[in-house]
Amino acid sequence: MSVNAWIIVGDQPTVGNLVTVARSLGGTVGAVVAGPRSVAEIVASSGVDKVVWCNAPDDVPAEANATALADAVAADPPRVVLAGRNPGERVLLGAAAARLKAAVLTGARSVAVEGDGVVVVNAVFGDIADETVAVSGPVALLLDGGSAPSGDGASVPIEEVSAPPLGVRVVETRTHGFDQVDLNAAHRVIGVGRGLKSKEDLALIEALAVAVGAEIACTRPVAEGLNWMGKDRYIGSSGARIAPQLYLAIGVSGQLQHMVGVTGAETIVAINSDPNAAVFKETDHGLVGDLYQLVPAITAALK
Ligand SMILES: Cc1cc2nc3c(=O)[nH]c(=O)nc-3n(C[C@H](O)[C@H](O)[C@H](O)COP(=O)(O)OP(=O)(O)OC[C@H]3O[C@@H](n4cnc5c(N)ncnc54)[C@H](O)[C@@H]3O)c2cc1C
Repeated sequence: MSVNAWIIVGDQPTVGNLVTVARSLGGTVGAVVAGPRSVAEIVASSGVDKVVWCNAPDDVPAEANATALADAVAADPPRVVLAGRNPGERVLLGAAAARLKAAVLTGARSVAVEGDGVVVVNAVFGDIADETVAVSGPVALLLDGGSAPSGDGASVPIEEVSAPPLGVRVVETRTHGFDQVDLNAAHRVIGVGRGLKSKEDLALIEALAVAVGAEIACTRPVAEGLNWMGKDRYIGSSGARIAPQLYLAIGVSGQLQHMVGVTGAETIVAINSDPNAAVFKETDHGLVGDLYQLVPAITAALK
């Protein structure tokens, strides 16, 4: 059996993995785009069979077009709906799923057709275990979107549907003061946790990072809660997954949700004042001690 799939797209054309997964189901693959026309044009060359674009003014946020997008999907109901994990696409997928009365699985790793049903391997418990789920009706899945297509491939035509006027528009966009980072490109990464007492103390870590030649990353509470760094810098099940040559965890307790993000690291070193910290079970080398003494000493030694 083959099943048809729709791919939900917001304001980023990062659909490479979604197209591969949808194609593996053997049926037709459509994409419905709630973001700008330029995104629909890139998606049209990604290997899908058809594209529907929700035509709304450019200053309307993509997720505000959820109703128009759900209407487009329901007009040709699929068995499987796929979306990437960014916040806008989560909302859009929810709207489509509600309209289709579809089951929703938010941690999909893979999906396959088996007999008359669809089988999904779904990550659970903050991504530290997988469950296998058999679905007999329509299903909506969040999974890794993948990269954006180059836009060089053959394009399919774009069908336009009008999004109704919504009385919502973006009046201002302000970027955060954080530098953006590509942690996956870094050979050495220092991860900072709540063992650091204040944002100002990041200067200690920055000096070490210069001496080591490392990028700085962090645990989730440092980025979400303390807000000391941008969210693209936190590592773990809901953050970045990295595979550097060296990962140096400083003041990081080593909870599973963090450590799953560094299982690909060649060497893991930790500094923690608690000899029983969970992080030491995962490390190749551990230094038990106060980071406020150890970090400046290591930096000085490396210089
Ligand atoms: C569904 C879910 C998803 C999650 N996803 C993620 C995720 O993707 N990434 C993530 O990071 N977390 C995630 N978390 C949170 C995670 O469970 C932990 O709470 C978090 O990683 C702990 O952060 P931390 O190590 O910075 O802080 P803490 O757990 O507070 O650890 C601080 C550590 O610093 C040490 N320390 C204190 N002072 C010093 C000192 N002077 N010198 C040296 N060491 C010192 C302490 O001994 C302690 O071990 C998630 C949680 C849930 C429920």
